[in-house]
Amino acid sequence: QVRLAARGLVKRFGATVALDGVDLDLADGESLAVMGPSGSGKSTLLHCLAGILAPDQGGVALRGRDVSSGSDRERSLLRRRHYGFVFQFGQLLSELPAVENVALPAMLLGTSRREATERARQWLASLGLAGMEGRRPGELSGGQAQRVAVARALITGPDVVFADEPTGALDQATGADVMRVLTEATRAAGASLVVVTHDESVAAWCSRRLVIVDGREVRGPLAGAR
Ligand code: ADP
Ligand code: ADP
Repeated sequence: QVRLAARGLVKRFGATVALDGVDLDLADGESLAVMGPSGSGKSTLLHCLAGILAPDQGGVALRGRDVSSGSDRERSLLRRRHYGFVFQFGQLLSELPAVENVALPAMLLGTSRREATERARQWLASLGLAGMEGRRPGELSGGQAQRVAVARALITGPDVVFADEPTGALDQATGADVMRVLTEATRAAGASLVVVTHDESVAAWCSRRLVIVDGREVRGPLAGAR
């Protein structure tokens, strides 16, 4: 089943054409690595797929329902309900302990503090962070902080998790550990996954890849060599 579909996405910033007609089908449970050189449009694609940016042309559908042409408010609600996000760094609230960072998205959807906190504890424990619930992000290693970010992305039971360079601030071994946790936990939660990365070893954790250069998909044998 196609979960997320994009057709003919075009996005310009002034004279810059960041996306120049990208099509994409993301199946249930599939993990997709979006690859390509710096400035090729990877982040813009992720932002359009996730409804953070509205494309100038084309559209995005979640389970067949158009999700790219709503108002900012509608797209914001859609993101909270249906998507989870993992970014490179700085995405956790530094004043809040790990458990509250994880509980927050559930509370924003109306779950009580008590229940959200209990679910957050369970998520942290299942990702190997039992005993660290009370630590603030600054008191965690980079790999631990990204596990907290994975728990936060999954607590709402999203349809799709979007990750933008999730290992960008980590060394190779820690990055591999975070990718293992991200792909396994996302799959177990029944979510599909889109990972933006320029790192071949990160893309290797995903079931499929999309290579874009100058805002267009590149297919064929050269795509893998980029
Ligand atoms: P990547 O993620 O592959 O590095 P981006 O999607 O960030 O590429 O950027 C694609 C192109 O669009 C680049 O030329 C970038 O400078 C430009 N761009 C991205 N976002 C903006 C923006 N908000 N305003 C102006 N130009 C932008
Ligand atoms: P990435 O490293 O993921 O490609 P960038 O560092 O290029 O991201 O961009 C970070 C943020 O700045 C993004 O939200 C992107 O849309 C925006 N951005 C990128 N290029 C430009 C630009 N030329 N002008 C304004 N904003 C930009």
